[in-house]
Amino acid sequence: MLLKMDHIEKSFGTTQVLHDISIHVEEGEFVALLGPSGSGKSTIFNLIGGMATPDEGTISLNDKIIHGQKGLIGYMPQQPSLFPWRTVIENVVLMQELSGKPNYEEASEWLEKVGLREFKKSFPIELSGGMKQRVAFIRALLSKQNLLCLDEPFSALDEFTRIEMQKWLLSVWEENRKSVLFVTHSIEEAIFLADRIYILTKRPATIKEEIKVPFARPREESLLNTNEFFQ
Ligand code: ADP
Ligand code: MG
Repeated sequence: MLLKMDHIEKSFGTTQVLHDISIHVEEGEFVALLGPSGSGKSTIFNLIGGMATPDEGTISLNDKIIHGQKGLIGYMPQQPSLFPWRTVIENVVLMQELSGKPNYEEASEWLEKVGLREFKKSFPIELSGGMKQRVAFIRALLSKQNLLCLDEPFSALDEFTRIEMQKWLLSVWEENRKSVLFVTHSIEEAIFLADRIYILTKRPATIKEEIKVPFARPREESLLNTNEFFQ
């Protein structure tokens, strides 16, 4: 099993935020974690990303327990923090710099794939919200981990850009066969993107339901065709 969270409990002070959370992601799967704001989705992500540790229960990656270990997953936090003093391409290779040798050529190819050819040497302030999301996503993708964890990556975008990004994410996922854990509060988005959905309740968060999405890929036809807006 790629990722397994088993009977996780987590409190902040006297407030219990997570109760008995058990989820898993298999190799190549696209899993969504769906729940209202404040239900504990980002807390689950921070536990997986090693930014926090569980009070009880275990988290394992490839059957090895990982508590508080950073850098094991491709992680895109809810606020995709690009460093303002670094150019776009320098932001993309950031994670690679930490672990070894930055690959500017590859970063450049990916930036071109997502339509940011002219923006490689720009600074984050010169980019739109959707462009920043793409940069943060490529940074997570190029960290070369098998599991990509994306915390509401498109929630700040307008409807058109969001649909464009959702389709783009699916095509990247289909090409690269990464496993994805995707956090969202949008039911529509979860159904469009995921193979499987976990639904969280609020206070403390527990898994209310697990749904297998009964769609066959490809899904391109199942949503508005927005291509004409972007060409
Ligand atoms: P979501 O991502 O689903 O919107 P969060 O995981 O961010 O929810 O937060 C769940 C709950 O945990 C909220 O009530 C939030 O206030 C609380 N919380 C999250 N992180 C902390 C923290 N570091 N200290 C105290 N409370 C926190
Ligand atoms: Mg959140």
